[in-house]
Amino acid sequence: MNAAASYRVCPLCGQDKAQPHLQKGELSLVRCRNCSMIYANPVAQELATGSFYDQAGVPFYLSPAKVESDYSPVRFERELRLFRSHCQKGEVLDVGCSTGAFLFQLKTRYPDQYSIVGTDVSGAPLDYAESRGVPVIRGDFLSHDFAGRTFDVVTFWAVMEHLTEPKRFLEKAASILKPNGLCFILVPNMSSLAVRILGAKYRYIFPPHINYFTKATLSRFVESQFNIIDFKSTHFNPLVILKDFRGRAQEVSDAERVDLLKRTTAYKQNPLLKPVKLLYRATENVLGSFGLADNIAVVLRKK
Ligand SMILES: [Zn+2]
Repeated sequence: MNAAASYRVCPLCGQDKAQPHLQKGELSLVRCRNCSMIYANPVAQELATGSFYDQAGVPFYLSPAKVESDYSPVRFERELRLFRSHCQKGEVLDVGCSTGAFLFQLKTRYPDQYSIVGTDVSGAPLDYAESRGVPVIRGDFLSHDFAGRTFDVVTFWAVMEHLTEPKRFLEKAASILKPNGLCFILVPNMSSLAVRILGAKYRYIFPPHINYFTKATLSRFVESQFNIIDFKSTHFNPLVILKDFRGRAQEVSDAERVDLLKRTTAYKQNPLLKPVKLLYRATENVLGSFGLADNIAVVLRKK
């Protein structure tokens, strides 16, 4: 870790009682003795402030392959299914929306049911989102003045794992939700089969991820403001497991990451692979029912 590193207390309970959990290159994960939250400490300044996502991270988030993969109709199919099963209409704010792909799919598929807006700290991906017709709010979500504007739903798709102070984001979300409003959170699952098999070799244990939730810690994280009305463990990528199992415990390059995203998207869209996909879907469901799939998602209702 370079000199410009930020020291963190536990992002869940606020205490400073962690013990070493896992080391991968310069990334140190610790586990809180009080609440068992696993988090990176210390973290590089640029990740702590979010400036990474407005600068160094841009080439990755705006690479044609990443954008194409995000905008493919299959990319958010699980999120959309979960979303639709709890919310059929309303005003939706997507926090950490990046290029706006989730909102784009939602609006394209159900144009009359939703009004949408996305927010992100990263300017260039928001330019792209706007070019696809997704309205955006620029800048820091925490300091943004919504001036009394409220929402039926706030979503955090693969965002909480990137934030130094995820609790403040959740509190802000609760503050702009209407009574009985919904919040969706999806994060990588630190108890997944992939993590159990691969440990530090797993590609998603990497510096941009600074919070590593399990079902237990995610539940604790949300309980003061929200009731959990649904829990799902979703997504499973055997290609990632296979590749990372063979690889060395090094960071996977952005180019490689994008390449695998592209291939995975192509497989998902190939009609010839239907039988394989049925088997795959069955495996995902079994893993999900045991809480072992790659991600965990909760649907929350404001208390
Ligand atoms: Zn803790």
